[in-house]
Amino acid sequence: MDAYALHLAVAALMGASVVAVSAYYMHRKTLTQLLEFAKAVERERDENSDIESPHHLKKRRAHPRRKGSGYYRRGSASLPDVTAISVGIDGSEERRNGPLHVDGIPAGLPRLHTLPEGKSSGHASATKRTSSLIRPTSPKSPVASASAFESVEGSDDEDNMTDTAKLDTAYLHTNGNAGPECKYENLPDHIKANGEQLPIAASSMIRSHSVSGDLHGVQPDPIAADILRREPEQENFARLKISPIEVPSPDEVEAYVVLQECLELRKRYVFREAVAPWVKEVISDPSTPRPNPEPFSYTSEGKSDHYFEMQDGVIHVYANKDYTNEELFPVADATTFFTDLHHILRVIAAGNIRTLCHHRLNLLEQKFNLHLMLNADREFLAQKTAPHRDFYNVRKVDTHVHHSACMNQKHLLRFIKSKLRKEPDEVVIFRDGTYLTLKEVFESLELTGYDLNVDLLDVHADKSTFHRFDKFNLKYNPCGQSRLREIFLKQDNLIQGRFLAELTKQVFADLAASKYQMAEYRISIYGRKQSEWDQMASWIVNNELYSENVVWLIQLPRLYNVYKEMGIVTSFQNILDNIFIPLFEVTVDPDSHPQLHVFLKQVVGLDLVDDESKPERRPTKHMPTPAQWTNVFNPAFSYYAYYCYANLYTLNKLRESKGMTTIKFRPHSGEAGDIDHLAATFLTAHNIAHGINLRKSPVLQYLYYLAQIGLAMSPLSNNSLFLDYHRNPFPIFFLRGLNVSLSTDDPLQIHLTKEPLVEEYSIAASVWKLSSCDLCEIARNSVSQSGFSHALKSHWIGKEYYKRGPDGNDIRKTNVPHIRLEFREAIWREEMQQVYLGKAVIPREVDK
Ligand SMILES: [Zn+2]
Repeated sequence: MDAYALHLAVAALMGASVVAVSAYYMHRKTLTQLLEFAKAVERERDENSDIESPHHLKKRRAHPRRKGSGYYRRGSASLPDVTAISVGIDGSEERRNGPLHVDGIPAGLPRLHTLPEGKSSGHASATKRTSSLIRPTSPKSPVASASAFESVEGSDDEDNMTDTAKLDTAYLHTNGNAGPECKYENLPDHIKANGEQLPIAASSMIRSHSVSGDLHGVQPDPIAADILRREPEQENFARLKISPIEVPSPDEVEAYVVLQECLELRKRYVFREAVAPWVKEVISDPSTPRPNPEPFSYTSEGKSDHYFEMQDGVIHVYANKDYTNEELFPVADATTFFTDLHHILRVIAAGNIRTLCHHRLNLLEQKFNLHLMLNADREFLAQKTAPHRDFYNVRKVDTHVHHSACMNQKHLLRFIKSKLRKEPDEVVIFRDGTYLTLKEVFESLELTGYDLNVDLLDVHADKSTFHRFDKFNLKYNPCGQSRLREIFLKQDNLIQGRFLAELTKQVFADLAASKYQMAEYRISIYGRKQSEWDQMASWIVNNELYSENVVWLIQLPRLYNVYKEMGIVTSFQNILDNIFIPLFEVTVDPDSHPQLHVFLKQVVGLDLVDDESKPERRPTKHMPTPAQWTNVFNPAFSYYAYYCYANLYTLNKLRESKGMTTIKFRPHSGEAGDIDHLAATFLTAHNIAHGINLRKSPVLQYLYYLAQIGLAMSPLSNNSLFLDYHRNPFPIFFLRGLNVSLSTDDPLQIHLTKEPLVEEYSIAASVWKLSSCDLCEIARNSVSQSGFSHALKSHWIGKEYYKRGPDGNDIRKTNVPHIRLEFREAIWREEMQQVYLGKAVIPREVDK
C-alpha cells in the first residue's frame, strides 16, 4: 500500500514536473513572441512619433475620447496604432481584437485614417507602405459607418473640429492639388509645398467623407474651412491689361489740357487742412476709441487778437485791429469765382470735350464690367476669408439725412400717441391769442389718440409729390397741420423743442442699438436772426443730444425771397451777417458763445438746401454785392454757393490756425435744376448730396470722377421727387467708379422700417443686383465721405484708411476685397495719367 502510494506520489511528481517544464517552455515561447511583437509595435510607434510633431501628440492626449474603450481611442485617435495592427497581425493575440475593432471603428476612422496619411506622406517613403495598405479600405468606411457612430455620440463633431483645426496645414497642402470637386483655384505656394502624388487620393477622401458628414449637418465644410485658413492678403487678381496705349490725337491733347485746368482750378478753391488729421493725430491704440465722457464740458480758451470785418459779403480777418496789417486768409473774390465758373460752363458745353468724356466714361464702365467678369468670384472668395465681417457689421454712415425727418412715420405716430396719453395737459403752443394744451390742440383738430394712424398722419411721400417740391415740404406737417409740425418737429417752440429732443434721443438709441449705423444729421439755420445759433446750441447742449454715432451738419435753406417778402430782411447781406458773424465771434472768442463753441465741435459741414428746380437767372461775371441785393428775387444757386463757400473758407482757415475743428462745405447740388449748380460745387464743395444731374453732363461727370468728389445719393428720395428709381444714375456712377454712397435723405417721408439706411441699401441691392462686395464698397465710401473723426474712421475702416488703393484697406474691417480697391485705384491712376498726358503727380494719400 505504502509502496504503491509512494510510486503514485513519485509518478505524480514527475508528471507535474514535466508538465511544469513544458508549460514553462510554452509560456516562454509565447512571452518571446509577445515581446517581439511589443518591440515591433514600439519601433513603429517611434518612427511615427518622429514624424508627428510633439505638439500634435500633446494635443491628441489632451483630447481623449470621453466614451468608449481603449481600442476606440487607439483606433480613432491616430493612424500609427492602426497601421501597427494591420501590419503586425501575424498569429498574435492581438488578432482577436484587432480586426474586430478596426472594422468596428466606424465614424472617426476615415477622417483619422486619411488625414495623418495625407500629412505624413509628404515626408517619408516608409509611410508609403502603410498608406497603400489602408487606401483600399478607407473610401468605403466613412459612408458605411459614419452615421451609426455619429448617432451614438453627439460629441463627435467637437472632435472633428479639433481634428480639422489640428490638421489645417495638411488640409491646405492636400487641397493644393485640386480634384474635380475642388471649386476654387488654389494658391501657387500651396501647390509648391506639396509636390507628391499620394495626397491626391487622401484629399479626395477627405472631401468625400466630409461631404457625407454634411448630411448630418454637423461637420465643418472643408471648402469653407479651406477658405478660412487662407490669408486675405493672398488674394489673386486677374488684372486688366486692355488700356489702349494709343497716343492721344492733337485734338484730344487739347481737350485733356482743358480738363487739367479745371482740376487745377478746383484745387485752388476747395478748403483743405494744412496738416492732415492723420499727421496731427497718430493712432497707436488699436482698441475702440473711448466715448467722450463729457461732450458738453466747456473750458474757457481765451480770446485771440483777431479782428474781422464783413466786406462785400465776405468776412476778412486780420491779425489785430490795426488796419495796416495784411489780410490773413485771402479767398478768391466774387468776380474771380464767377469768371472761373463761366470758364467751367464753357468747357462742359464744348462738343469735342463732351465726346471725349463720354467715351472715357463708357470705357470706365466697360472696364468695370470686365473686372467683374474676371474677378467677381475671387472677390467673393476674399470676402469669405475676412473673419467675422459681413455686410451687416461693416460701418455705414447715412451721409445725407435731414434731422427733422430722421424718424420714420410709425415712430413719429407712436411718439405723438404716447405724448397725448402721458402729457395731455402740457401747454404746448400759443395760437390765435391763447395757450393750448396738447389735448386741446387735438380737440381743435377733432382728433383723438385712438383715431391716429399712419395714413391720417399723412407724412409719407406719394405720387402727388413727384416734381412737386412744395408738396413734399408740406408733408413735414403731420395730419397736414402746421401746428403739429411746430409742436413735434421744431426746436424753437413753446416747449423749447423738448418733444423733438426726446424723439431725437430715441433715434440715437436706435442707432446705438444697431451699432454699425451712423448718421450725419442736417439741421437748419435760417439766417433770419443772429440769435439762431445760440438758440440751436442751447437746445443741443441742454438736452444733451450727443451720440457716438452722430455728427451734425448745418443746413441753410435758400429762402431769401421769402424773408424779403415777409420783411424780415432788407438785403441778402443780412442773411450772410446772421449766419457768419456769430461763427467768427465764437471762433475768435469762445467765451462769447460757450454753448455754440461746444456744439461746433460736433458740426462737420455746411449745407445749402431747397428746391433746385426753381427757375433762376445764371449769374454774370459782375454781380451786385450782397448789400446791393435788395430786390425780391432769390439769388441763383451759385451766388449762394460762392458766399457760403468764401465765408466758410475764411472761417476754416481761422479755426484751423487756432487748433479748432473745421466745417466742410457739403451742399445739396444737382438734385434738379440747372447744370451750373454742379459746376459751382465742383469748384467749391468738399462733397455734395444727390448729384443725379451729372448724368446730363459727361464732362462734369468725368471731372467729378477724376476729382473723386463724394456724392451722397438717395435714389429712393429721388424716386419720390425728381427721378424714377429705374432711371437713377447711381448704378452707372458706381460702375464708372465715382465716389458714391447711399443715404436716406428723409426717412419720415420715404422709408418704412426702423433701419432706413439698411432699407436704402436693400432696395438698391435688389433692383440693381449689387453684390455683397459692392455694398461693402459703398459702405466704405460712406465712412470716408463722412465728417467723423480721424480716430473713429481709423477704428471703423482701418488704421491706414487715408492711403490710396488697397494699402488703405483693411478687409477685416471693411469686408471690401483688396482686389476691388486695387482695381479702382489702378483704373483711376491710368485715367489721371491719360488726362495729365503721363505727367500726373499722385500723392500716396487721399485728399484731406
Ligand atoms: Zn436732402
